[in-house]
Amino acid sequence: MPVEVRYDEACLDHRHPDGAYDLPLRETEVAEPHPDRPERLTNVERMLRAHLGEHATWPAVEPTTRDRLERVHDPDYLDEVWELAASGGGRIEATTGVSPETPEAILYAAGSAIGAAEQQALDTDADTVPYALVRPSGHHAQPAQADGYCLVNNVAVAAEHAIETGAVERVAVVDWDVHPGNGTQECFYDRDDVLLVSLHNDFGSWGPAHPQTSRLDERGTGDGEGYTVNVPLPPGTGNEGYATAFDRVVEPVVDTFDPDLLLVSAGQDGSQMDPNGNNVLTMDGFREMGRRVRALAGGSLALVQEGGYNVSHLAYCTLGAIEGAIGVESGVEDRYDLLAECNPASEEWIADAVEAYEEFWPVG
Ligand SMILES: [Zn+2]
Repeated sequence: MPVEVRYDEACLDHRHPDGAYDLPLRETEVAEPHPDRPERLTNVERMLRAHLGEHATWPAVEPTTRDRLERVHDPDYLDEVWELAASGGGRIEATTGVSPETPEAILYAAGSAIGAAEQQALDTDADTVPYALVRPSGHHAQPAQADGYCLVNNVAVAAEHAIETGAVERVAVVDWDVHPGNGTQECFYDRDDVLLVSLHNDFGSWGPAHPQTSRLDERGTGDGEGYTVNVPLPPGTGNEGYATAFDRVVEPVVDTFDPDLLLVSAGQDGSQMDPNGNNVLTMDGFREMGRRVRALAGGSLALVQEGGYNVSHLAYCTLGAIEGAIGVESGVEDRYDLLAECNPASEEWIADAVEAYEEFWPVG
């Protein structure tokens, strides 16, 4: 089964201002490059082209249109992004930038996710797995708020498109990015037709653009109660801890929800080399998660790129996730597999999640 890589170079042109980690005292001389660099995608592209060969197809991406973004996002907020780009760009919040090319990148990124979801929703016997290789990422973007390098929530826009066009009734989002899917949570918090299961380190709220904590007590509201499943994991959670989280929480919840379409917020920043995360996953760990989401989804699975900021290890881990999802082994070895350990405390944290959600789902 091939992967259908939905990728367009328009996504490379979006830029954030450098210096995302500048502190008020400016202790260091040189500003760090912004972690969301275009090389993230070009490295993944090269890895996939070199090592998946006939197991990968590269269909043209159709950019989406503003009205499809407005199914999720406030038009005034989108105007703000577009106007900032037209005026030359700048920061829209503390860590997130806009450049003149950003609107086009957004339309291609969201179009890539929408196309992936649409194809899988309409063709339940699909013998391909789409991977939307995109930036800017989406899962922190809230209806009227940019956050954490994210401007438009690609997965949320894709889920809403699949539902509103009548292609599906229920969508599950599994978010394995090391940061929480707080934007996706915010988009669907009171709904029972979109399930979010997010595995992440416990970053809590991180400022005015990110009021959500994504802890165990944020579980949805009204009809949506129980349909936001947050699973905080301790620093140092590795391959084994993630497998346990799938065994005890992700699989029983998604299996019971029985979605028509499974979307994965595929952020590979739980990698042990990542400068923005605290976990120690390797290529093997991502391969295993790819295998598991494939088994869980049956025929309707699409993966959408979120984070991953070590530009080298991201390429290995993304190849691993795709290998698992399509059932192919490229033979590439993870050159950064230096610490395949797992913090044993992850077992206790996952047990706490089981306790928090057992009133809603047969977790265990
Ligand atoms: Zn992330």
